[in-house]
Amino acid sequence: MSQEVENCAAHAGGSATLLPVSWEECRQRSWNHLDILLVTGDYYVDHPSFGIALIGRLLESHGYRVAILPQPRFDSPHDFLLFPPPRLFCGITAGNLDSIVANYSSNGHVRDTDAYSPGGKPWRGNIQSRTERRRPDRASLVYSSLARAAFPQVPIVLGGIESSLRRFVHYDYRQGKLRCSFLTDAKADLLVYGMGEKAVVEIAERCAKKQPLLGIPGTCQRLTDSELRDIFPDTELGSSRSFLVLPGWDEIKQKPPLFLDAELALDQHGRSRSARIVLQRQQTHWVVQHPAPQPLSAAELDAVYGLPFTRRPYPLGPEIPAYLMIRDSITIVRGCSGNCSFCAITRHQGPSITSRSRGSIRRECERVAGMEDFGGTISDLGGPTANLFGTSCTIGSCNKHDCLYPKICPNLRIDEQAFINLLDEISGIPGIRHLFISSGLRMEILLQTPQLLEKILRSHLPGSLKIAPEHTDDELLCLMHKEPHELLQRFVSKCKEIGDRLGKRIELTPYIITSHPGSSVARAEKLAGDLQNLGLQVRKFQDFTPTPGTLSTAMFVTGLRPDTKKPLHVARNQAERRAERQILEDRFHRQNRNRHSTRGPKYLHENKKGISQVLKGKKRQGR
Ligand code: SF4
Repeated sequence: MSQEVENCAAHAGGSATLLPVSWEECRQRSWNHLDILLVTGDYYVDHPSFGIALIGRLLESHGYRVAILPQPRFDSPHDFLLFPPPRLFCGITAGNLDSIVANYSSNGHVRDTDAYSPGGKPWRGNIQSRTERRRPDRASLVYSSLARAAFPQVPIVLGGIESSLRRFVHYDYRQGKLRCSFLTDAKADLLVYGMGEKAVVEIAERCAKKQPLLGIPGTCQRLTDSELRDIFPDTELGSSRSFLVLPGWDEIKQKPPLFLDAELALDQHGRSRSARIVLQRQQTHWVVQHPAPQPLSAAELDAVYGLPFTRRPYPLGPEIPAYLMIRDSITIVRGCSGNCSFCAITRHQGPSITSRSRGSIRRECERVAGMEDFGGTISDLGGPTANLFGTSCTIGSCNKHDCLYPKICPNLRIDEQAFINLLDEISGIPGIRHLFISSGLRMEILLQTPQLLEKILRSHLPGSLKIAPEHTDDELLCLMHKEPHELLQRFVSKCKEIGDRLGKRIELTPYIITSHPGSSVARAEKLAGDLQNLGLQVRKFQDFTPTPGTLSTAMFVTGLRPDTKKPLHVARNQAERRAERQILEDRFHRQNRNRHSTRGPKYLHENKKGISQVLKGKKRQGR
């Protein structure tokens, strides 16, 4: 990294509006101290889809001096020591992905690409060893240890999806075992869970005022037995109205099914937005989770996305694949109330839906359209689920917060016209020739919004419509917390009807998961047959990955159904997982091969060309 830092400093003239990534750049701003150092396992891309940029810009807007340390070398604290000790805290994240997900496939193979690194290369040079990777395994732990060595007196704050989903006892699929909370393993001072905007601002304020960090909404702390009892007397701890005590590390180790109980309790707790404090005993400490803050309001979300992002990667070198994908995309909605068992979005972003205002989305689109290398295409107006945009609950909320399963809740207000108006307004912005919805869309909502569905099919598809049936077996779908197969049948038929009317062939891209707990070779055979009967081609399927923080992972670990606690078949060995995958590959191989030989969406090539030119231009300026 040191050479890279020097290179970065050499480019400082061309990056004046990005956050500094070296002390040299800080000094060029006449800074004589640093308030906050944010360390990330991703390359620094100053775009709101990159969590570290969003948090960095937010803290900067509150007047703090913030620098980013992207992808430091991790064989020594050298890269950390290139900065002086930050005055307030050192924030640590593995990046936009859990580092194990980034580094290993679902079957444990080392990935040879990293979408969040320059050129998509996970290694710094030609040596493909573990120490030469840009992102270490369990990056949050590694970076915390280096930060502690470099800055012994500075509070260490964990954040991002890796730490958030590993804040309690969790499963690590690379190691194939349960692990304690990252908060206790890292010996960090604080862990921010979920979407951390409110928490990090309060942490910075308290650090600046030298106030204790206890009790900040949206954070977890580690406490010893005596610290816990000092803060919460025994009488209080006994109250189940104030506290949710999860099965602890020792109990789960002795009785593994308790892991499923803990995950179910966390799931319910998160969805109900309970104000109870959550406690879980680890090996030596307690993890204490304080209640989540209120989700950002629409105005607050607008303000965050209105921060002065340059929407550029740090001008260092090769392009960042993830950046190419999202460069001209716009986030319009946050949160998901779908609660799919295999997905951690509800646990991380929360079940409440916040939609940005049309004005704010329009301003961001105008800004993108005005950039010199804009190719004319907004690649996505989306979020975790694009067509949850504009939805709300007529009664405010409920404890279950399960708005789509098993049927759409009658209290869910769906504002079809709001999305249609948004699409019309953005399409009319000068310079925008194409406007696509590339994020996933919920089929059951689209069936209730036929005008929106037709509009999307007619004008806003980047080639195909991405849908997520995941499987066709009703029992498996129930375990996944997804609607029965009949929904997919109705949806395909509706799309065909609209396509016939429009005189257009509608292409659907179904996302499929193989080897989910409860699956089997026989069910994979049935899945392939069902999809063929519907005339669908499967291009996107993946083996189930037992990532931290999902109910499906708890099923995988315990081999139990979450509803009845009865045993469940789990495909754990590679032969069985491969057999399921092979069935789909055999059935759809020919179509896939033909598909992969095409060049892909035109707008992506336009973008790539544009970015190459921009990067070349900036390199020239930097010389
Ligand atoms: S009442 Fe229905 S729409 Fe409202 S939060 Fe609960 S499940 Fe969702």
